[in-house]
Amino acid sequence: MTDQTSLPAGAGPPIESVRTAVYRFPTPTPEADGTLAWDAVVAVTVTLTAAGETGLGWSYTSPAAAAVVEQHLAEVVRQHGAFQIAAGWEAMHWAGRNYGTHGLFQQALSAVDIAWWDLAGRLRNQPVADLAGGTVLDEIPLYGSGGFTTLTDDELAEQVAGWHEVGARAMKIKIGESWGARPDRDLARVRQLIELAGPGVAPMVDANGGYTIGQAQRIGHELDTLGVSWFEEPVSSEDLAGLALLRQQLRLDVAAGEYLSEQSAVLAMLPSVDCLQLDATRCGGYTGFQRAAAIAAGRNLKVSAHCGPAVHAPLMAAIPNLAHVEYFADHVRLEPLLVDGVTPARGGRLHPDLSAPGHGMRLAESAQRYRSERN
Ligand SMILES: [Mg+2]
Repeated sequence: MTDQTSLPAGAGPPIESVRTAVYRFPTPTPEADGTLAWDAVVAVTVTLTAAGETGLGWSYTSPAAAAVVEQHLAEVVRQHGAFQIAAGWEAMHWAGRNYGTHGLFQQALSAVDIAWWDLAGRLRNQPVADLAGGTVLDEIPLYGSGGFTTLTDDELAEQVAGWHEVGARAMKIKIGESWGARPDRDLARVRQLIELAGPGVAPMVDANGGYTIGQAQRIGHELDTLGVSWFEEPVSSEDLAGLALLRQQLRLDVAAGEYLSEQSAVLAMLPSVDCLQLDATRCGGYTGFQRAAAIAAGRNLKVSAHCGPAVHAPLMAAIPNLAHVEYFADHVRLEPLLVDGVTPARGGRLHPDLSAPGHGMRLAESAQRYRSERN
């Protein structure tokens, strides 16, 4: 623990402890997109304490992120005060230099950063949107997301009905099944989505990098004909030239960015997308999201929050160039089990409580049932 007197003025009370936990939430049935399959979602939480208050952060990541926090970040964090979010972020970033600061390391850092904002907000009795400069959106547009390639027709219909219930005006399914091996089924499912969604709802698709560039061009033209509005990761998001080419050739919006972690990578992707996706649990927490959104604003681009509607909503109120938040089926199911205080969804929007200090969420009792011993 750091002595208060050794901290600079304005640092706030010293951060006393950094704790992690791992929670594993099984999916109702095995799920898949174009290029991955899974049967559970893991949330790694970080709890920071200072002056009798706690802050909670988390990332949807590998249980290994908990070890990264404990072995590489905790000591760095404890050398700071509760209000030193920016200084702490830089110190954590440099602590990872030799391990690679992208990917898993950044997911661990993100969970700490979100906990830090929550802690600072609670100690200052301010919501995170106020810490971020104040509210610009008091309602956050959402879009329904899921549509796994493993769903039966009835299961997809049930999911779409759930999105209608919350008034979603845009809905997204997964395509690119089995690395692009089933393009006819992909397009049939898109037609099914359009029928289920009905008029006035924008259809969106996510191929998760499952197509080759040639496939993505051919499928993309079909999607344009069908009136699809958004083609996410038509090719691998590592293929910035391929994304840029598709952006020129297709009418629909090309989107990517969910794996971005560093500001330099954000900058490099901007010419390749119509809307930049950012995930606060991967790109450096609320600090990283706010910075990345500002970088995108420099190209007059909007950003869309990837997954985790509850963890994103409190900050999104302060992001001027926000397009929408992804109301992702797996996370919509698990977030109320993990935390109390999840932002309600209705009328196609999330309605965050803009008076709750911090992000307004606390670990839920129900989370204990999903606690994993793998940490
Ligand atoms: Mg995606």
